[in-house]
Amino acid sequence: MKSNNRVVMLADCQSFYASVEKADHPEYKNRPLVVAGDPERRSGIVLAACPLAKEKGITTAERLGEALAKCPDLVVIKPRMQKYIDVSMQITEIYKSYTDLVEPYSIDEQFLDVTGSLHLYGTPVELAQIIQRHVMEATGVRARFGIAETKILAKTACDNFAKKNPSGLYILSKDTLADTLWKLPVSSMFMAGSKMTRHFNVMGLPTIGSVAQTPLSKLKQMMRRKFGKNSDISAEMYWRIANGIDDSPVRPGTHQVDPKSVGHMMTLPRDYAKLEEIKVVLLGIYIKTCVHKGSNLLILWRNNIFQVV
Ligand SMILES: [Mg+2]
Repeated sequence: MKSNNRVVMLADCQSFYASVEKADHPEYKNRPLVVAGDPERRSGIVLAACPLAKEKGITTAERLGEALAKCPDLVVIKPRMQKYIDVSMQITEIYKSYTDLVEPYSIDEQFLDVTGSLHLYGTPVELAQIIQRHVMEATGVRARFGIAETKILAKTACDNFAKKNPSGLYILSKDTLADTLWKLPVSSMFMAGSKMTRHFNVMGLPTIGSVAQTPLSKLKQMMRRKFGKNSDISAEMYWRIANGIDDSPVRPGTHQVDPKSVGHMMTLPRDYAKLEEIKVVLLGIYIKTCVHKGSNLLILWRNNIFQVV
């Protein structure tokens, strides 16, 4: 990475709710554990599964009854949202001790722009290792780091590479996109949901690289044929994402909500074009509202299902 470029990290906590519970319950250290709504009725949904539970084939968002069928000695813990929010804020504070530029992205993901403070710690990987150890020692949670010049590339680096790396770290350099990002199927592209993935495949664009290498004017034409004139903005958005172009800054304080406020205003990290994503953002605000009112209500939106747990 050249010195005049930004160094942005997306830090993601592994199996976050399950990791918090395991840190709080050392007696379950070597047992498969899930956090799921309504353990008594078996009807809840798995919100988080620890790596041992995942080894048994248990996946997030599956029904608890199915998970118990796969693994009868599964430890099932009821979600404690306030606890997870507290630990999330504790982790954000740890990140803030390394850089002022920390932007919470979700309860278990934060962006860090470490460009200004990196020289105090060494290379990007060395700094990520220091922060990773710090978070582990303080909370028992394992953080994984995608490192790149932009937020979208850092997020892509984390989701597609760091999570699969034993070290939990990955640097995605802009110079190597052709051998890394571009080789990925278009389904792995940031912002591309299952519908858009199908459309890209029908258009003969099966990889992120095939989207990136289509001239923008051509991509606009192709998408206009499918979606009409208004699709120019989405065409440009996908083309920029595929080419790793993203100048959005890491905005400290985004997503911070004043507990006393009733209405919610949020500065979004970027423009949201898809209904699915807008729903997720609205849901995020709704969950915060519930938590600030001291309610234990959690609504999970996944696979087009809203569920109260
Ligand atoms: Mg996570």
